[in-house]
Amino acid sequence: MDDKRIALLTEILAGARRVAVLTGAGISAESGVPTFRGKDGLWKQYRAETLATPEAFERDPALVWEWYDWRRGLIAPVEPNPGHRVLAGWQDLFEDLAVITQNVDGLHEKAGSRNVVELHGNIWKVRCTRDHTVSESRLTPLPEIPPRCPDCGALLRPHIVWFGEALDASLLERAFALTEACQVMFVIGTSAVVQPAASLPYAAGRAGAKVVEINLEPTPFTPRADFFFPGKAGEILPLLDRRLRDSLRAGGRDAPQGH
Ligand SMILES: [Zn+2]
Repeated sequence: MDDKRIALLTEILAGARRVAVLTGAGISAESGVPTFRGKDGLWKQYRAETLATPEAFERDPALVWEWYDWRRGLIAPVEPNPGHRVLAGWQDLFEDLAVITQNVDGLHEKAGSRNVVELHGNIWKVRCTRDHTVSESRLTPLPEIPPRCPDCGALLRPHIVWFGEALDASLLERAFALTEACQVMFVIGTSAVVQPAASLPYAAGRAGAKVVEINLEPTPFTPRADFFFPGKAGEILPLLDRRLRDSLRAGGRDAPQGH
């Protein structure tokens, strides 16, 4: 990686107070989470696109839950990678560090991130189809399929935004507010083509933030990024983290240790 660009970005980060991070499937894939898309998404003879819909759930809730139960079983043992861990550690370096994620695996929280906006929901949460109460459910495998609400007996559904469903408007609003308030935005492991999340990096740029993209391959957004680092978040973020902490120490600002 080109050292001048790293030095420049380090300098910008050392002066930044508010940082927002948008993450997608790429950072989870580095931990070994399957994308559940394309041939990765095949379960029995079904494609993700035919199971992750409200219509599929209405038709056959047990089938949809069997699929989620299988996915939860695959994700349960997966650990956050060094990229997730650096982002969690940055909570102590910046006044405000928010993660906006399209991932549903909960790996940012597992790494210790506290301020996470989960645009597409969380596979470890369930929602009552009658009273819409959201609760955590970490049992895997599930003891009962389909699971039912302990309060009212109605069907529970995964707290996940399915194909054809709208994102939670209040979460989206929060994501845009964080984006427009930040001084630096990282775009990590997402091709940034699926709306509305795709418009976040552009909104950050328009609001005057520096936008840093870390992806294996260039994306449609890359020409607009202030910095593009091709590669793995699990390698690039730790490198940036070391440089940033060195720079903060040299500048007399203590970088808190112990993550
Ligand atoms: Zn209920």
